[in-house]
Amino acid sequence: MEPASPTPPPATGSAAVADALTRSGAFVECVFHCAVCGTAGTSLIRPAAVPGRRCTACGAPVVVTVLERFGRRA
Ligand SMILES: [Zn+2]
Repeated sequence: MEPASPTPPPATGSAAVADALTRSGAFVECVFHCAVCGTAGTSLIRPAAVPGRRCTACGAPVVVTVLERFGRRA
């Protein structure tokens, strides 16, 4: 809860955000779920790798949902 945010980030599309993170080398946190074998969990992944994410158990393409919790202050 940070009500006194002086400069809220501009509204940008998810594609623009992912592009910025890719260029900065940052990772995003995502939730993945495999519809084939049921494996699911969370992991950090490079935005550019999200479309090609595959199940570590069976190798099938998984459904990936990127969480907007990235950008933690070190
Ligand atoms: Zn699987």
